[in-house]
Amino acid sequence: MNCLICEKKDNVNFLSDFRLEIREDEKYFSDAKIFQCSACDFSFVSPMPSNEKLDYFYEKVYRSNGRPPFLVSENFEDQKKYYLEDKNLSYISYLTTFIDAKRIKNFYDFGGGNGDIGHALKKKFPKINLFCTEGDEYCEKILDERGYKNIKNLNDIDKKFDLITTTHSLEHLSDINSIFVKFKEILSKDGHIFFEVPNCTKEYFDGRAYDSPHLLFFTEKSIKKLAEIHNLEIINLSFAAYSFADDHKYQRESQQEYYNSRKKIISIFNLKRIFKKIIPQKIISFRQDFIKMKSLRKDLKLDWFINNSGDNCYIRGILKKR
Ligand SMILES: [Zn+2]
Repeated sequence: MNCLICEKKDNVNFLSDFRLEIREDEKYFSDAKIFQCSACDFSFVSPMPSNEKLDYFYEKVYRSNGRPPFLVSENFEDQKKYYLEDKNLSYISYLTTFIDAKRIKNFYDFGGGNGDIGHALKKKFPKINLFCTEGDEYCEKILDERGYKNIKNLNDIDKKFDLITTTHSLEHLSDINSIFVKFKEILSKDGHIFFEVPNCTKEYFDGRAYDSPHLLFFTEKSIKKLAEIHNLEIINLSFAAYSFADDHKYQRESQQEYYNSRKKIISIFNLKRIFKKIIPQKIISFRQDFIKMKSLRKDLKLDWFINNSGDNCYIRGILKKR
């Protein structure tokens, strides 16, 4: 099979079985294996799940309550505060170090959930117009309140953007070259692309608890190949966030948390049936969700996002047209 970056097959070999985050996702990622192109130091899933399965998974399943990544509560007031968390502030300080934000007229976020980055930028630079492509129905209300125009079909975009951001989305795609062709098409002449993805070196693969729902696995070398193929200049590449060892630890904890909560739900099921007329079930699920979020989010401190040591589990960068 051919590498999804260089499109050659000479250097592609089987790397590993695909590890599922939760067993229930088997139906979306059946028969998946991971292959690696040594020329690009890039790994990818094969066979890829169908677009129909992926669309359904991201629209209806991925951010639903009570499953990893546990970052969504139905409490909109809580969600609206996340743009001020250290992780998002680190994005703003990184971006404004390399980009003159006063020159951004049109901002576009590809797959950015609630659109925290654009929302935070607009607080400081109110003239920015916000656009995004986000298919997740759990994000729609907040995007709307924040003034985003959500263009669900990429082919309907008729604008050029001065800043395109995509954080933790590219690794979920089943193809990489076509999205970069699109980004270049909708990027203004002097515009920038900002991305962040997991840093998937050998240290990542050794000891990770799961891969799903990620389908593409980038490294510094694969980003450089991608930039070269698409004739993009790299303004900066940096490593960010916690160590691989911590990443693996959080993966295991989040997986365990999910399975523990399933067990609890089963054991209190009968109790719930008896009390369901007295205690509305929604209140119970809200509370559980809130506790989960707090326990996971307390560690996302600013210094973890500016280490840049190479032993970091994310890689981020800024690209522009040559
Ligand atoms: Zn390759």
